[in-house]
Amino acid sequence: MNSVDQIIVTRKHSLKEGLELLNQSGMSILLLVGADKTLQRTVTDGDIRRLLLAGKGLGDTLESLEARVPVVGLIDASNAEILDLMDRYEINQVPVVDANNRPAGLYLRHKIQPRILLSVPHMGEYERQFVEEAFQTNWIAPLGPNVDAFEKELADYVGSQHAAALNSGTAAIHLALRLLDVAQNDWVLCSSFTFVASANPILYQGAVPIFIDSDPATWNMSPAALEKALQECCRRGKKPKAIVVVHLYGQSANMEAIMAISEAYGVPVVEDAAESMGASYRGQHTGTFGKFGIFSFNGNKIITTSGGGMLVSDDGELIEKARFLSTQAKDPVAHYEHSEVGYNYRMSNVLAGIGRGQLKVLAERVQSRRKVFFRYRDAFADMECVDWMPEPEGDFSNRWLSSFSLNPRKTEITPRVLIEALAELNIEARPVWKPMHLQPLFKGARYFSHDEEQSYCDYLFRTSICLPSASSMSVAQQDSVIDCILDVLK
Ligand SMILES: *Cc1c(COP(=O)(O)O)cnc(C)c1O
Repeated sequence: MNSVDQIIVTRKHSLKEGLELLNQSGMSILLLVGADKTLQRTVTDGDIRRLLLAGKGLGDTLESLEARVPVVGLIDASNAEILDLMDRYEINQVPVVDANNRPAGLYLRHKIQPRILLSVPHMGEYERQFVEEAFQTNWIAPLGPNVDAFEKELADYVGSQHAAALNSGTAAIHLALRLLDVAQNDWVLCSSFTFVASANPILYQGAVPIFIDSDPATWNMSPAALEKALQECCRRGKKPKAIVVVHLYGQSANMEAIMAISEAYGVPVVEDAAESMGASYRGQHTGTFGKFGIFSFNGNKIITTSGGGMLVSDDGELIEKARFLSTQAKDPVAHYEHSEVGYNYRMSNVLAGIGRGQLKVLAERVQSRRKVFFRYRDAFADMECVDWMPEPEGDFSNRWLSSFSLNPRKTEITPRVLIEALAELNIEARPVWKPMHLQPLFKGARYFSHDEEQSYCDYLFRTSICLPSASSMSVAQQDSVIDCILDVLK
């Protein structure tokens, strides 16, 4: 609760003094009290503006303001009760009065509402049950029935033949590259506009990443830039070993064009579908077009096992090999015999139980995230400077994070200004991923842009923002985000 010493006024105060107090206090209301010190009404700068428009001068007093009993909280009200009042009356401040109706404090919504985060885990009904089963049967050790079932259920869900459950999405990308024989000094083509985990495994293998720009139509890998890169590699007489295509923020890349190029040049595709679980391209799930697809169940993703990943492929032998490599590459003999480098990358049976429960609510989670997106989109429909991440016809995005760019030709507001304004209200928003070709880690890496004149993902990085998009977000929380952004943009 905030102190009200600075914002108490009487009818003897002038309009000018009122405006000064509003300025100094940093709060957006004053509390007007009578001679007996009881609360008579609140005064906003809107109230003062209306007095000025009605012909009053800055030197005139607040005398003419009528008493108008505001919504107040009682001194012993809990935060939850106050928040309830705020929601009921659609207000963001509630003064508190004592037994004599004298102001005793002021609640501000952003100080008492829990922080609104970009993306949070959202459990369903069944996760506990599967985990409980693991306890009851003492399948706490890695591997066990939940792991096998999760692999099968996920493969069925996305329409892939085989799946290997791993301890992270990054591990899944690493194994995919290893299984494609990516080795020292090999070239791997990779989306530049992504999270670093898409590209790190290229370095684990000692290979050399070559980054590819985004296409304005999808914000994902530009087929034109990909083709340019492949032509250039062929000209130099060295064929890349793999193409890592990312489906960012739940939106599919243009898989028809990318698969055609992959086939024409004979370079296999690894789909990084870490953010696009539940999304599809022309009716087919992302992650099932390439030689390999990978998913992540990290805590921020649309469904989560608190940490985990999945490698999928229609090639059963390669998936079997992935299971072998992910459990220390132990040769099939009774003693401990090893002929190649392995990893400790397998998912545990307990976490697979959470994954099985989460898979049951995936479709619901996708609908909830899309609903959050539609609400934002409708709320900003009149804002010409807002360009949403596109969803081309025939695609179905999971809208993992609602993202838009601020057209610099139509506004001077930058993502940073919005992020800071939201942070003031205890709301988390983030810039989009910083492209890999701009990262110190990949300094000197080759890069192919969509367009000779400009790099599209550089533009996205300068202009774009991700909004809170959790499937568990309440309508009131969405409204807090919307009101704040409209305030700044208007
Ligand atoms: C989260 C993420 C990953 C990595 O997944 P982890 O399970 O966290 O290792 C890879 N690529 C992208 C695009 C991601 O967002």
